[in-house]
Amino acid sequence: MSETFTQGATIAAIATAIAPQQGSIGIVRLSGEQALEIAKTLFHAPGGRQVWESHRILYGYIRHPHTQQVVDEALLLIMKAPRSYTCEDVVEFHCHGGIMPVQQVLQLCLELGARLAQPGEFTLRAFLNGRLDLTQAESISDLVGAQSPAAAQAALAGLQGKLATPIRQLRTACLDVLAEIEARIDFEEDLPPLNEPEIIAEINHILEKLSRILATADRGELLRTGLKVAIVGRPNVGKSSLLNAWSRSDRAIVTDLPGTTRDVVESQLVVGGVPVQVLDTAGIRDTVDIVEKIGVERSRSVAQAADLVLLTIDAGAGWTPEDQEIYEQVKHRPVILVINKTDLLKAAEKTEIQSKIQNPGSKIFTSAAQSKGIEDLEKAILEAVNAGNLQAANLDLAINQRQAAALTRAKAALEQVSATIGNQLPLDFWTIDLRGAIQALGEITGEEVTESVLDRIFSRFCIGK
Ligand code: GDP
Repeated sequence: MSETFTQGATIAAIATAIAPQQGSIGIVRLSGEQALEIAKTLFHAPGGRQVWESHRILYGYIRHPHTQQVVDEALLLIMKAPRSYTCEDVVEFHCHGGIMPVQQVLQLCLELGARLAQPGEFTLRAFLNGRLDLTQAESISDLVGAQSPAAAQAALAGLQGKLATPIRQLRTACLDVLAEIEARIDFEEDLPPLNEPEIIAEINHILEKLSRILATADRGELLRTGLKVAIVGRPNVGKSSLLNAWSRSDRAIVTDLPGTTRDVVESQLVVGGVPVQVLDTAGIRDTVDIVEKIGVERSRSVAQAADLVLLTIDAGAGWTPEDQEIYEQVKHRPVILVINKTDLLKAAEKTEIQSKIQNPGSKIFTSAAQSKGIEDLEKAILEAVNAGNLQAANLDLAINQRQAAALTRAKAALEQVSATIGNQLPLDFWTIDLRGAIQALGEITGEEVTESVLDRIFSRFCIGK
């Protein structure tokens, strides 16, 4: 392990989010051999009636060890090893929220010999002590970062071992095949010859299961990173109104004046379980107005950075040369044409405009003023990013990029084993790729993992987790 991750030292961190005047409770967490000793030095129950039993909560005061001045009135939670998150002695000071109490308590813990925990170090210890496997550890980080209920659900599935269990089973199946082959290498004369069709069938079976898990990678990516959707279009076509109707909030300011959305307004929505960040841009158009131009330029780049562009036009005005110009700017991205203000049109005109607009991709008719067409829009967005099929594998899992990369390696290795068997190569060759697959599967659960991989995984965690 890298130096920062060496076990033994007692680590301390603020485990809750901290901000001035926010959060009624703030937690300082300690883990390690000195945790209880530090707690005993700092924490004083009224009347001195302290029972330092595990899994109990004590009420009392945290006092400065030298001056005896009260730093906070708090609760103390004790979890002795191994029945704790890290499998070490853990204590938590449940202080008042905000910044001062938790920071002062943390400082005292550090003065008494603890050291500040690295990001994810509590969870790393839980992993190193065998309390969690690597997929569960990663799920904890996902759960903390989840931006939609579906993302949280997928993280919980991982935490409950719904990825680790099938991966371990696949690895065991590969190990069994390896044992069969190796036995033939070592004791060729004593055993009946290998049943090749059976081995190939088993490898195909493993490959099939592996592919089903791998198919959840796209969903995982969408749930984790969400979608960035930019609303672009001429001023006054109803972009802000659309976003308003969509988010049913007053986040975007709606006004009759063109170009008042000078900057980018961001809203966070959830569409079909996927977190969606909507960027409402200033109307894209060439302008001499310096202030507006800054906004316009930003809009162009925002559209370029978006996963999906909603090009909004005014149904009453039809497809104008300016709309075409904007389309030229964004057409390298997936575009959905949103024909807004349809309430101003008669049915016949709607058909007419539809036939006139030759814009490729999907077209959605909306009336932001009447909150109409929003469902169609959401459906079109999910279809555009292929999120409609996300549940196809019927798994609530959502693997991450690291896991997907390892699974892809395992898959390629197993396919190579099949090819090697097909080519009648010697048994030694079969085992090489089989071992590769076993190694890759072991990396997912953490049975075979390098220090640098662990460093990379846990450094992405928040401090205190
Ligand atoms: P933006 O500049 O593209 O963001 O446009 P706004 O959202 O500020 O809307 C410009 C004007 O069009 C406002 O007066 C809105 O009330 C109006 N508007 C927006 N959407 C609709 C709609 O669907 N129907 C009608 N009739 N008016 C709309």
